[in-house]
Amino acid sequence: MIDNLKQIFSFLDNAYNAQGIVSVLEEVFPLNAIYIYDSTTDSLRDFSKSWMFIKSKELAEIFENLENEKYITTKTKAYYALYNNQKIIGMLEFSEKLHSKLLEFLELSGFCISLKIQNIILSERMQKNIDFHDSMKNIAKIIETQYETNYIIPIIGEMIDKFVSDHLVYIFINNELVWPSSCKDPKIFELIKCLNNKSEYILTPDKKIGLFPMISENKLLGCIVTKSTDNILSEKEIEYLEQLSNQSATTLNRANVYAEILKHATLDALTGFYNRRQLEERIKQEASSAKRQHRSLCAIMTDIDYFKKVNDTYGHATGDLVLKTVSREIKNQLRDYDVAGRYGGEEFVILLPFTKLEEAKMVAERLRKAVEAKKIETSDKKLINVTISLGVAEYKEKDFIENADKALYKAKESGRNKVIVYESNM
Ligand code: GH3
Ligand code: MG
Ligand code: MG
Repeated sequence: MIDNLKQIFSFLDNAYNAQGIVSVLEEVFPLNAIYIYDSTTDSLRDFSKSWMFIKSKELAEIFENLENEKYITTKTKAYYALYNNQKIIGMLEFSEKLHSKLLEFLELSGFCISLKIQNIILSERMQKNIDFHDSMKNIAKIIETQYETNYIIPIIGEMIDKFVSDHLVYIFINNELVWPSSCKDPKIFELIKCLNNKSEYILTPDKKIGLFPMISENKLLGCIVTKSTDNILSEKEIEYLEQLSNQSATTLNRANVYAEILKHATLDALTGFYNRRQLEERIKQEASSAKRQHRSLCAIMTDIDYFKKVNDTYGHATGDLVLKTVSREIKNQLRDYDVAGRYGGEEFVILLPFTKLEEAKMVAERLRKAVEAKKIETSDKKLINVTISLGVAEYKEKDFIENADKALYKAKESGRNKVIVYESNM
């Protein structure tokens, strides 16, 4: 028996989730289930069945009576109390009566079993908390570099999706659905109208739909909605959603403010290149001086290949890192008086003053090779690399950026990781 006990302790030691504990105990006991009392909802839950609610009155009664007894035997089953510091925390259910040997065994191992169960519950809660705080940090971090709401909103949506299981998640901005693309429940659209800048969250009486307003600086920016046909929102999920919607409101508000400021700024925060607005200015300037001084001027338009896949595989933070790295590689290849600007998400325009088409093509090829060769280390130490496609065009009268874009399109079409020079029949 002592040997058995030693073995069970060592097995328990290695169990790292509910299923692990159950399979260890099943080896030794005719175990049926492990019920744990959850104080946040004042209910018994099935520890081994992903925390399922136990509605049975009979079990609740048995659990109450166990406060005074160590174990209870019914017609078909037996129950044994689990304690922590003399406080009952749950019970083991057995499919048959407990004979004296098993009882003795439980006497000796009960404390260890209950400790292990509590450890696992705590560590699972902690992990969820860690994930949650990571998400909060992520949302906050996004705004350091991002100011386009149509880029931020899907990220927020995906993050929230992770924390409310079995619910659909919708994001509304100014009463309009912005994520995902459709919502068919007219009730939600009705409820949204009830929100104002003082609103708290709204739960429908059946707790299946939740509306969490995003309010920042006294303005109602929008709202996060969750909906399920079967499941209700738990208290913890409500708490998470409240915090996430607050954080999202701050993020969106700051993004709006940031976008306003950036309208007047010149550099793009992520890449250090000229931003779109300033780039347009520089294109005009460079074109007019090339024309005036009869000098050649070329433009390269680039776009990262399959960039969406990078975001999807490694996350947006890595996507941002890739963007940063690619822009730095490009910068390293340019002369001081070349002009680099961020044209769109992961599209750059490079202006090459004093440069003929043949040379520009060589520069583009150099950029392509430099990016292709660059290994980028992700936060979890994986090395990845990306390629770019490039279109090159020379300034003649006008439309040379458009021409570079057409050439870029050809480069994409003909296989990517390529340089294509604009031709008039494109
Ligand atoms: P293709 O080879 O055809 O260019 O494929 P692609 O996946 O790169 O397609 P596309 O150029 O249309 O995709 C652009 C993607 O870039 C979509 C968007 O999620 C992502 N993106 C745009 N701006 C940013 C940004 O600032 N950061 C990150 N991480 N991703 C961005
Ligand atoms: Mg791309
Ligand atoms: Mg693109």
